Amino acid sequence: MEELDWVSIKSGLLDMARKRGAEVARIGDPALLEDAEPGLRPSELLTNVKSMIVLGGAAPRAAEWQSTRVEVMETVGTADRMTALGSAVARHIEETYGYYAMNVPTSTDQDDKAFLDFKAAAIAAGAGTASLAGPVLDPDHGFLYLTVILTTMPLPADGPLEEPACPAPQCIDMWEEQGTTPCMAVCPIDDGGCLGGEIDQGLVIKRRYDAERCRDRVYHYWTPGYQAALERALDEPDSRKRKMILYGSFFTRTMWSITYSGVSQGQCFECVRACPVGSKQRALQ
Ligand code: SF4
Ligand code: SF4
Repeated sequence: MEELDWVSIKSGLLDMARKRGAEVARIGDPALLEDAEPGLRPSELLTNVKSMIVLGGAAPRAAEWQSTRVEVMETVGTADRMTALGSAVARHIEETYGYYAMNVPTSTDQDDKAFLDFKAAAIAAGAGTASLAGPVLDPDHGFLYLTVILTTMPLPADGPLEEPACPAPQCIDMWEEQGTTPCMAVCPIDDGGCLGGEIDQGLVIKRRYDAERCRDRVYHYWTPGYQAALERALDEPDSRKRKMILYGSFFTRTMWSITYSGVSQGQCFECVRACPVGSKQRALQ
């Protein structure tokens, strides 16, 4: 059987992903994620998986960050464009090369758990580094939506980045002067927010994160809220009050959010808005 040139195939696949909208396209070694808890291992999703193609993109546009209508960011903050791109790349691999390729679902599995640790996959591939605020940050673009394609193709891995994008130099200065950073200042864990941490010698050495509180804000209008409101409406004996619940703005926006997007749709961006990493991409005229 003819030996394939994996370096050229890798370069062709990543170029294709970039031409179709990925800002970042890298290959990770799935073996680096095999220590994850059961249910989150690449080999449990695809037998004989050899490579992870990690694509990042579809960040909100600069104008969307600027909008004074918060509903704009609630609407555009979705991973579905990256999901569509990942599916196209997976189909191309299977049809062109005859290897298995799966675009990992960006929705959730049983008990609302992810199918894969997307952040760990991105860090393993060097499609960004971990941040104090939570999202993986690309040094140039900052926050990006991610999609991961698992494949049985043995593509050469890129590996993790050597320099962390977080903390940015401005954050180190702010920490030294004020004992906080931009993301912690907008969402302080000890004052009703979700983020805390410490920086020492230019590195994040401690991180505190209130995941429950953050989730409630990021997915304010989403399935759990819909279920809670529906339960209240069903229990409400007064037909006028029942109508107010079902036709009120919370229930209406929740229905809109669920039907608009079948994948995760972020509704709070305040820590990312404050983050200097990638902020040049958001400043136009
Ligand atoms: S997404 Fe919103 S709620 Fe969550 S940590 Fe960032 S600012 Fe806080
Ligand atoms: S604001 Fe600074 S400390 Fe916070 S995530 Fe961004 S780079 Fe890291």
